Amino acid sequence: MHLSILKKTSMLTAILLLVFSSLAFAATNPGGPSTNGNTTISSTLSYADVVKILGDIEQSSKGKVEIFTLDEYGKSEADRSIYVAKVGTGSKKIWIQAQIHGNEKLVTEAALDLLKTYASSNSKDVQKVLAESTLYFIPMYNPDGAELNTRGTVIQSTGKSLDLNRDWTVDGGFVAKESQVVYAYWADLKPDFAIDLHHQGLKQVYGTNEATSFSLGVSLAPNGPTLPEYKDYNKVTRQMLAYVYDEMEGYGYTHIDRYQIVDRESQVGYDIDIKGGVVSAMMMGLNYNGLNPEHHSHPAVFFETKGNTSDGSLGQKSNGYLTKQNYLALKSLVYGYVTGEVYEVDPDHWSDIPAYPLAGYWTDYNGIVPIGESGF
Ligand SMILES: [Zn+2]
Repeated sequence: MHLSILKKTSMLTAILLLVFSSLAFAATNPGGPSTNGNTTISSTLSYADVVKILGDIEQSSKGKVEIFTLDEYGKSEADRSIYVAKVGTGSKKIWIQAQIHGNEKLVTEAALDLLKTYASSNSKDVQKVLAESTLYFIPMYNPDGAELNTRGTVIQSTGKSLDLNRDWTVDGGFVAKESQVVYAYWADLKPDFAIDLHHQGLKQVYGTNEATSFSLGVSLAPNGPTLPEYKDYNKVTRQMLAYVYDEMEGYGYTHIDRYQIVDRESQVGYDIDIKGGVVSAMMMGLNYNGLNPEHHSHPAVFFETKGNTSDGSLGQKSNGYLTKQNYLALKSLVYGYVTGEVYEVDPDHWSDIPAYPLAGYWTDYNGIVPIGESGF
C-alpha cells in the first residue's frame, strides 16, 4: 500500500514538499493522492475530546496537573480557547506544542499521553523530570484548523487560510489571533527550551527502501545560514537530535532520519531555514510589539511523524505505533534535557542521522539557497 502511494507521489514532482514547508504541493496538486476518503479522522481527537481529556487528567492527577486557557490573552480566530497544561515544580521551563497545523493529528495524542504519564507515574525518571522542570503543553495550538482538518486557520476578517507556523515575524506577521495570543504568553512565560510536533508526507530514508517513520529537525538549519549567529544553539540543537536518535535506536525504532525537503529525482535534500516559524522566532528572540524587549530566546527542535490526514498517508493501523514513537522521543528528550545528558553528546554525531546529500537550504526569505553559493 505504501509502495503504490509512493509511486503516485513521485510522479507528481521532483521535489517533494514536506509538511513543514509552506507549500503543501503534494496535497493540493490535481491528480495527486486523493484528499477525500483515504483517511478517516474519526479515530483522531476533536477539540472537544482534547478539552475533556485535559479535564480528566487534571482531576485524576491529584493536583499535579493544572489546566488553563489563554483567554486572558485572547482566543482563536473562530473564538475557541487555547488550552495549556502545566505539570512539574522545577525551575527549567519546557514548552511542548502540538498541532499548530490542524491536519496533523497524532502529535496531540502523543503530547496528551506524555502528560498522562507525568500526571500518574511514580517512576524515578518521571519524578526527576517533575522535580527539576515545569512543563507547559499546548496540545492543540490551532483548534480552528483542527476542527476543519486544515493546515492553517481561517482569518475571519479576510476569509483566507493562514499557516500559523509562518506568522511569528515582525515583517507583516502576527496576522492571526492565535499568533498574538500564544506569542504574548510565550513572552510572559520565558521558557528555556521548546519542542514542536508535526506530521510530514511520505518520504524514504536515504539509500534505503524504507519509509521514514519519524524525522528530527531544527527549523533554522544547523550549520546553516542563520542558526550559528544565535548563542550556542547550533551546537545544542545538534546534540539534542543526536541524543534522541540514539535513544530511539535503543527502543528499536530505526526508520528515523533528519528532516529535509527531498528532491526525489536527484536524490538530494534541503535543510529548512524558516525564520517565520514559531520555534525559529523563539530561537531568534523575536521582540514583537515590545513584549520581549530583552530578546529572551532558547533552543528548540521539532519532530515530524509520518503521515497526515490531507494526503491520505495516515492509516489507522499504524497510528498506535506512530504515536508511541513520538511519545518515546518526547519523553527521552525531556529527560535528556533535564538531566543534562544531551550536553554529553558529540554535536557532530548529528551528521550520523541518516540524511540526503545536502544540496542547499530551503528558506522563507530567499527561496532555495544552494550550498556553496552563499559560502555555507
Ligand atoms: Zn506541521
